[in-house]
Amino acid sequence: MVKKEFKAESKRLLELMINSIYSQREVFLRELISNASDAIDKIYYQALTDDNLSFNKENYYIRVEADKENRTLKVIDTGIGMTKEELENNLGTIAKSGSLAFKDANELKDGYDIIGQFGVGFYAAFMVADVVTVESKAYGSDEAYKWESKGIDGYTITPVEKDQLGTTITLKIKENTDDENYDEFLEEYRLKAIIKKYSDFIRYPIKMDVTESKLKEGSEDEYEDHIEEQTINSMVPIWKKNKNELTEEDYENFYQEKRYGFDKPLKHIHLNIDGTVRYNAILYIPENRPYDYYSQDYEKGLELYSNGVLIMEKCADLIPDHFSFVKGMVDSEDLSLNISREMLQHDRQLKLIAKNITKKVKNQLLSLQRDDREKYEKFYESFGRQLKFGVYNNFGQNKETLQDLLMFYSSKEKKMVTLDEYVSRMPEEQKYIYYAAGESNERIEKLPQTEMVKDKGFEILYFTEEVDEFAIKMLMNYKEKEFKSISSGDLGIDEDETEESSEKAEKDNKELFAAMKTILADNVKEVRASKRLKSHPVCLAADGEISLEMEKVINAMPD
Ligand code: ADP
Ligand code: MG
Repeated sequence: MVKKEFKAESKRLLELMINSIYSQREVFLRELISNASDAIDKIYYQALTDDNLSFNKENYYIRVEADKENRTLKVIDTGIGMTKEELENNLGTIAKSGSLAFKDANELKDGYDIIGQFGVGFYAAFMVADVVTVESKAYGSDEAYKWESKGIDGYTITPVEKDQLGTTITLKIKENTDDENYDEFLEEYRLKAIIKKYSDFIRYPIKMDVTESKLKEGSEDEYEDHIEEQTINSMVPIWKKNKNELTEEDYENFYQEKRYGFDKPLKHIHLNIDGTVRYNAILYIPENRPYDYYSQDYEKGLELYSNGVLIMEKCADLIPDHFSFVKGMVDSEDLSLNISREMLQHDRQLKLIAKNITKKVKNQLLSLQRDDREKYEKFYESFGRQLKFGVYNNFGQNKETLQDLLMFYSSKEKKMVTLDEYVSRMPEEQKYIYYAAGESNERIEKLPQTEMVKDKGFEILYFTEEVDEFAIKMLMNYKEKEFKSISSGDLGIDEDETEESSEKAEKDNKELFAAMKTILADNVKEVRASKRLKSHPVCLAADGEISLEMEKVINAMPD
């Protein structure tokens, strides 16, 4: 038995690999399962061109076996296996990827699912194991070999007895230390959870013995433990399926299964994009607002998968802030992963995907607004404020995306209307889009300033949220019509009374106004005759750019 040395650089590399690439130890299992899946994929490709081999799906699986007593964890696959040379080349050389070479040699481009590419994932096993043993029998070979290593001081390769084709990887799990827990990687529930989290959509079954508590035969209240082999992963990535094959219920089930929310989604968006960046996505617009939605705690983001393997749970770059309510996942084979597979090397593809998704979400919302107003109003009640923040926050940069999604309560329609609906109803002589700000629709309804505008037959939009007026200031105009607060000085309405009559009123009441100003002192800037009032004796008007309501908000802000 000859013990071979890693080259010096390799030792150093391996140390780095083991200690500093991954932020979470649990990904070792994702890496080993990904390799097992690749190995089965390879035998599948082999079968496509090899008459001696028929690919019978039942024979191909991955098995995870934990043995607490012996502190071993096994990952078994029935894939293509490795010859002695391959063990040496692929596992003895860091950053050598047999899988990448396989893809290149077979010119696999479209539709391949092989995950490996960096040639480092395997070593993640040393994060949790003192000794790693790989026993493998390659397709087309009668012999099997065992590769064994304790980490940085090298590896051995020796012949071994093995009947079944494929590979068995045995990890001798580390002992717990004062501050590190390794026992968890021998626990059934933990292993199940890790498999579900990262490898749920691996296309081959990942099997494990699971303890189920069942009613004892003949008994009504006595339970006993049964051990049965179960397939842990759901295998079929529904986002790769054809939309016609899927029902509304399938999408709802996926939403619930992935715990995107506890409500029912209001709408789903299924994308199969074959453009500059290829990706599949299933996105949801939830019905209800998460309890922490408008708080600092809320974290936006979509799940990001590469070839069905989870890379990030909440990828924030995939969705803009104004659509932060969107839930769901994106899967792409075109991502430039960094070697930890936890991040991307650059975000070019992400940016393209995000841009595309933003457009699709907007269009879906618009069609909901058009075709199912009731649903849209429900959505708007939950998330409308976020859209308005979106207009406000980026200095109107998102105007194009967001302006048509906004809705406000209308004095005329007595319900929520879009800006487009408002403008399309405007009489020819109306110059502005009028709005009134206040605490509630009822309060605004009673504002004296609304009278004249209403009398003219003009519609008024009611702004009852603080952000409303700020957002509209950022929009500036809609379809070239400017917004105008009904409490602003000049309403742009041809007044019925002549200048003379108001001048006369001003003159006649000069003393009264002066007396009122003295009493009100600093509370008002001036008291003057108004042409705007019909049935109310008095109203407050703002002189400057901002309305009284907005002034209130600004005054209430902390300095
Ligand atoms: P990667 O998967 O990125 O290529 P790994 O370090 O995970 O890198 O694995 C290195 C290589 O070892 C793989 O490319 C593959 O050729 C080989 N390998 C690892 N695990 C297995 C396995 N279970 N069956 C067959 N080959 C394997
Ligand atoms: Mg790998």
